[in-house]
Amino acid sequence: MSFKSLLFPTKDLCFLCKDKTPFLTAFVCPECLERLEFVYRQVNIDSKYVTRTVYALSYNRFLRELIHDFKFNGKSYMYKPFAEILINTIKKLDIHGVDLIMYVPIHYRKEAIRGYNQSELLARYISQKLNIPISKGNLIKKKWTKEQNTLDRVQRLNNLRDSFNVKNPDEIKNKRILLIDDLITTGSTFNECSKLLIENGSKEVIAMALTSSRII
Ligand SMILES: [Zn+2]
Repeated sequence: MSFKSLLFPTKDLCFLCKDKTPFLTAFVCPECLERLEFVYRQVNIDSKYVTRTVYALSYNRFLRELIHDFKFNGKSYMYKPFAEILINTIKKLDIHGVDLIMYVPIHYRKEAIRGYNQSELLARYISQKLNIPISKGNLIKKKWTKEQNTLDRVQRLNNLRDSFNVKNPDEIKNKRILLIDDLITTGSTFNECSKLLIENGSKEVIAMALTSSRII
């Protein structure tokens, strides 16, 4: 087996656990599928800039570990099943009229260390599959910030203040934007990004994540 095939599962392998099975549903084996809790939920994150905030899966222990691997252990290939789940979420929650897909950016230094931005991988796949344009590198994270989950509520709000930037407002002007992230912790990241997008002329922002650790 080559090094590359170790990193990237082949077509008979589950993209979440790498078990070999001919019975895959959107890259996921029956056992993993069973452990994912689909909720397709809409939540209120107290933001006047976001029209809707939705997520797909319950943040159970199984998913928490998967997301950790997806973000921090180099298992970037997990974007495929996760993006398929998000496409399903778009259909289930009747999200339509999206002009442009965007993703929550990470600081370029963080991306250089990680090798990828997991939210961008999700957004690219969804854009391709649904044939909706994607905006790349326009919304950027200009400030190096601490991980949101290491901070309390007040620190989280201050931490993100003025940390994002829109480089080209023309691209987003009058557009209905679907903004993608992997995880909602408090909703403040979605709020900050959406504030910036709306202030730079976007018509609407719908925020979508894979899951949410936020207490409703
Ligand atoms: Zn599996």
